[in-house]
Amino acid sequence: VPGVDAVRIAQTSQRTRRRLIAVASGKGGVGKSTISTNLAIALAARGRSVGMIDADIYGPSQPTLLGVVGTKPQARDNKLVPVPTAYGVPVLSVGQLVAPEKALAWRGPMATNALTQLVDGAWETDLLVVDMPPGTGDVQLTMIQKHKPEGVVIVSTPQDLALIDARRAIDLFGQTGVPVIGIVENMAGYACPHCGEVSDPFGSGGAEAAAAALGVPFLGRIPLAIAIRSASDAGEPPAAGNGPEGAAFHELAARVDA
Ligand code: ADP
Repeated sequence: VPGVDAVRIAQTSQRTRRRLIAVASGKGGVGKSTISTNLAIALAARGRSVGMIDADIYGPSQPTLLGVVGTKPQARDNKLVPVPTAYGVPVLSVGQLVAPEKALAWRGPMATNALTQLVDGAWETDLLVVDMPPGTGDVQLTMIQKHKPEGVVIVSTPQDLALIDARRAIDLFGQTGVPVIGIVENMAGYACPHCGEVSDPFGSGGAEAAAAALGVPFLGRIPLAIAIRSASDAGEPPAAGNGPEGAAFHELAARVDA
């Protein structure tokens, strides 16, 4: 039946277009964007064809992190064309659609329309990593209900408060049937750049224990390292370099890719 076949073909192509991995966190500032960038680059290094969607309306930082600030995406057949980056991970960001300070004031429908424009871009990559806004609002619900990610990676710091917020995010995705790929503990342990001593200003083991209690996989720790911040600010993601900071992201990608 030609009509049925057409529907089937459309569904198949939508499915291939919609292989999405969401990266979420309960609150802002925990390193969700940094992890998204480096996870995407590390997945690309494993031979995956990966793109990046920056849906963080509160702080769209992927253009900075991927070194393409100021490059606007073109449109083709009413679709946004992802902007290529030096790291083999093309990107579409809400920060490319509007001045970041304007996106902050967006109300629900504008934010969710923006997400849909980004997801429905002219992607040629198989897999899309989506840097979500923090928390559990409209953009998350649209992501879950309309775009159906195949899984979500939750980023948390070792702080209890962040874990409580992270639990809410886990609940939201878990209850709506999105598999939780696992929790990554970021800013875990601080290596003193002078003496090398590793200390745990926020305690240690909290995220791992929370993951165990919640029955979700623990995906590992990313240390708090000055080199991660400075490289990220410079648009040179550690996962793309040869420094020791990249290793933790490659381990993370191997677990996510398993
Ligand atoms: P979020 O997306 O959760 O708001 P970001 O990824 O923007 O968080 O990170 C917030 C700040 O913390 C940035 O300046 C970033 O460079 C820094 N940062 C994130 N992770 C680390 C880390 N592991 N070590 C050092 N700095 C980090």
